[in-house]
Amino acid sequence: MTTIDLAGRARAALESLGVDPARYGSGDLMARSPISGAGLFGVRATPPAEADAVIGAAHAAFAEWRLTPAPVRGSLVKRLGELIAAHKEALADLVTIEAGKIRSEALGEVQEMIDICDLAVGLSRQLYGRTMPSERPGHRLQEQWHPLGVVGVISAFNFPVAVWSWNAAVALVCGDPVVWKPSELTPLCALGCDALLRRAMAERGAPAGLAGLILGGREAGAALADDPRVALVSATGSTRMGRDVGPRVAARFGRSLLELGGNNAVIVAPSADLDLAVHSMVFAAAGTAGQRCTSQRRLIVHESIADAVVAKLAAAFERLPAGDPFADGVLLGPLINPAAHEAMRAALASVADAGGEVVCGGEALDVGLGGTWVRPALVRLPRQSGPALIETFAPILYVLTYTDFDEALALHNAVPQGLSGGIFTSDAAEAERYLSPAGADTGIANVNVATSGAEIGGAFGGEKETGGGRESGSDAWKAYMRRTTNTINYSGTVRLAQGVDFTG
Ligand code: NAD
Repeated sequence: MTTIDLAGRARAALESLGVDPARYGSGDLMARSPISGAGLFGVRATPPAEADAVIGAAHAAFAEWRLTPAPVRGSLVKRLGELIAAHKEALADLVTIEAGKIRSEALGEVQEMIDICDLAVGLSRQLYGRTMPSERPGHRLQEQWHPLGVVGVISAFNFPVAVWSWNAAVALVCGDPVVWKPSELTPLCALGCDALLRRAMAERGAPAGLAGLILGGREAGAALADDPRVALVSATGSTRMGRDVGPRVAARFGRSLLELGGNNAVIVAPSADLDLAVHSMVFAAAGTAGQRCTSQRRLIVHESIADAVVAKLAAAFERLPAGDPFADGVLLGPLINPAAHEAMRAALASVADAGGEVVCGGEALDVGLGGTWVRPALVRLPRQSGPALIETFAPILYVLTYTDFDEALALHNAVPQGLSGGIFTSDAAEAERYLSPAGADTGIANVNVATSGAEIGGAFGGEKETGGGRESGSDAWKAYMRRTTNTINYSGTVRLAQGVDFTG
């Protein structure tokens, strides 16, 4: 069916990244490509005893790494960023082959890895603690941030390299070893990243167990969640996964950072620049074939402009060029697998029960490559119910209308998830209300920008069923460290806080 030699291209990328040939070519975990829908070759899954040893080695490496000065740890991440930049094309090849991302998005994902390495290198000289005034004479009060321990990373298929790097680059400068359990759908991407980090570690003389890779399914992730040697479990994926992982980690008083599903909405007000809004929303709703956690799933549009906006979106969805994601000009790649289209069909089938209508899209597209392509769907609903309350990981945009702004805000927030949102308006008061404490309840809230395409400089994550975790920039690094509060007495006498006198 496909004329692209995906297996050959994957092998060439793995070779150029320096992946140990013993790790791929055969094995019980089949690497697949959504482009052809077919298996490429086997990959060696990590047996449980070996996974246990990987975690043990990371735990042992912690003893050395936590005492390595943070700027020296930063030099390892600097080298990692250089290697990623030098191998950008090969990594992007693997992202396109395994996740089906169009070329520009695959390259963008790798660029995000380079960016987070830059950020983490700077951070390695800025892990600031504060000094506070003590209430006692001759005393000083300060806080310090110390390395936390092994960080376990569980990641999803749709960001097969960037999510690891958000965690790994920051965790490494914070003094933490990293053990990664990538999605079973993207093992080749993981092998490529791991090889680059190992090369950087060898060049910088880092302890061998500092980076670990465990290939396998949810059982491998569960083992990481249960292991008391793993201080922080950073888990990215569905809310279903988070409901299992969060309590497991909490049961042993471990720390978790959950980055789960979204159900992201954009409000379009009557004063909005409609061309700007539509262009931005087409990327948010149909980009990555609707398979981003930040994909736009709901549009809340003022009733006076609803028909015009729907017509523009429908025309844009119809025009999106679908096909080989490696090819120039293609904007619509495949769904990850046929099950994703099944979930999309089921959601669209429930639209009539919710009193709505499918305006366009949802049908399979035969692009002649063998994988699962679909036309993004646009659905009008009379009220927010049924399929609009859940995250279907496929390109469906539900359109709801509003009359007054309070109603729009209420609809925006009336879903269980809380990842990303946006408003298009030229009314400054509306924009400010959207950003106010009574406005959007999401972790990411944008003005004249739709829901997807965050930059690494800000903290990334969301509230409610999205899990509450924050990764990437701002002060997200604090999740990867432990804080100590220190009181230093240089007065030579015992002075108790709050005026307590304990003199006999
Ligand atoms: P998924 O939940 O099926 O799998 C994610 C990862 O969790 C995989 O590595 C999987 O093996 C592992 N896993 C699954 N169940 C587990 C369990 N019970 N215990 C331990 N590990 C388990 O998700 P997916 O289909 O790969 O990715 C799509 C989902 O991820 C969507 O819901 C999307 O919104 C979400 N996502 C969220 C973010 C974010 O930052 N908030 C980013 C990307 C993707």
